[in-house]
Amino acid sequence: MVSLNDLKKKLAQRQKIVITTHYKPDGDALGSSLALYHWLTKHGHEVTVIVPSDYPAFLSWMPGQEDAIIYTSHKEISDKLIEEADIIFCLDFNHLSRILPMEDVVRKSTALKVMIDHHIGPEGFDDARLWDCKAAATAQLVYDFIVNHMDDRKEISADIAASLYTGIMTDTGSFRFPSTTAEVHLIIADLITLGAQNWKIHENVFNSSTENRLKFLGFALLNRLEVIPEYNTAIFAIKAEDLKQFDITTGDTEGLVNYALSVSGIRLAALIIDRTERVKLSLRSIGDIPCNEICSRFFEGGGHKNAAGGQSTKPLPEVIETFKSILPEYKNLLTT
Ligand code: 5GP
Ligand code: MN
Repeated sequence: MVSLNDLKKKLAQRQKIVITTHYKPDGDALGSSLALYHWLTKHGHEVTVIVPSDYPAFLSWMPGQEDAIIYTSHKEISDKLIEEADIIFCLDFNHLSRILPMEDVVRKSTALKVMIDHHIGPEGFDDARLWDCKAAATAQLVYDFIVNHMDDRKEISADIAASLYTGIMTDTGSFRFPSTTAEVHLIIADLITLGAQNWKIHENVFNSSTENRLKFLGFALLNRLEVIPEYNTAIFAIKAEDLKQFDITTGDTEGLVNYALSVSGIRLAALIIDRTERVKLSLRSIGDIPCNEICSRFFEGGGHKNAAGGQSTKPLPEVIETFKSILPEYKNLLTT
């Protein structure tokens, strides 16, 4: 392992750097990547953000996202950048399988791989790391990286502050989850001091729905929500035809699962979506119900205790049945 202090010394010289993050980047994945991008660029490095897939439209306002390359749309140039990189920063994931189409080329690369992440159970592909599964967001760790490990708070621009703010805001459910410690609020206060316009960021992320998306939400609440009181569980099951009917694109289903969790007494919520090529699951829970364990045991996934995701290649009705069949095993946790 290379220490962060040695990394700091390496960064004193100009380096070719690639930053990447997980498939279907969310606010934390993109926010932490863009923050690091701006900071490394300020120090004269040759930096490219390469994301494995597209990302939600509600993140398209983010400063620097226009410079990010979507791997599948620019494979040749991306492969060249990855092969020639001196350093690859891997943000907000800790298993290379999370970058799907980029897994092989990143694994083969001889670049120094630096992982900054807050998920449990790192695979161990990295050469250097800032890893803390208690951190509220990878953006919190990037703040820690710049301020404390690189000793460079003075170089945090308004764009960096806004990117970090977005990551922490989205990964804490707007500062609601138990991960939102006093330290998180102190960091947020500092980011506002450094130029993050908090009100504008909330506006950009949450008040940017299309009419279709809002109508889809109404449709799903009315027709696709199933509450199972016996297990304090609620499920949204979304068919492929629903996505088509409302012209749903990446990010449009973000946050839907939280409506299931908002039903009084509900302790486990699942959003199960038929994305045609595979069924995707998003789980959320209250207390000790381990979403990550459920996802890794049954749905080829993982994540955090209270928020995790997974997938299945089985048809939607079967996935719903599998999910329901798991509930008795967790009955104690679900009902006490
Ligand atoms: P979401 O439900 O918002 O897609 O994801 C919730 C959390 O679970 C995030 O921390 C995300 O990184 C993780 N997660 C989502 N899908 C997967 C997956 O397929 N595999 C793993 N290991 N983690 C996932
Ligand atoms: Mn995250």
